[in-house]
Amino acid sequence: MNKEIKKYLLLISLPVISGVLLDWVLNHKILLLIVSTTKSVWNYLNLSFSVPLWGLILIFLLGFFCKNSVGWLFKKEPHHFKYTTDNIIGVSWEWEWNTTDGEIWHSEPVAYCPKCSFELKPYEYGDKGYSMGSRRNIKLKCDKCEFEESFKYHRDAVVEFASKEIDRKVKTGEYKDIVN
Ligand SMILES: [Zn+2]
Repeated sequence: MNKEIKKYLLLISLPVISGVLLDWVLNHKILLLIVSTTKSVWNYLNLSFSVPLWGLILIFLLGFFCKNSVGWLFKKEPHHFKYTTDNIIGVSWEWEWNTTDGEIWHSEPVAYCPKCSFELKPYEYGDKGYSMGSRRNIKLKCDKCEFEESFKYHRDAVVEFASKEIDRKVKTGEYKDIVN
């Protein structure tokens, strides 16, 4: 192989190779093996030019950067992670998406005023709950602009309904109309 071609091939591939090698060093502590392998490759190529130490450090840093960039590109978030707000049962809801051990879940949705975006407060009213016996129904009220929405359910049931509606829209793909 022409020496010039060898030189350029090596210069192009070094950042990627060094990135992978660096990963091994960090994870498996096989530095000695890597050093001897690199030396063999170096000898095999019979390179006539020398690379200063700062050059090697730069190449390793570049490799580290390449490796992390590539990793970042492949770890793309699911599209529905952009779906974090919606108008459900007359009020605005906001939540966050999280991943734990590969499991995707969203936080409990928080109710906001659909008119002024102020956080809504639950007020209990009336007699005992419509469906759950001992707990009272709620009104979600805005302390800023007087907006209110009454429900024939207690607080947890209202939040649970919003939560299930979010899951349903993700499952059916309806969320895409809100995100796009
Ligand atoms: Zn309001």
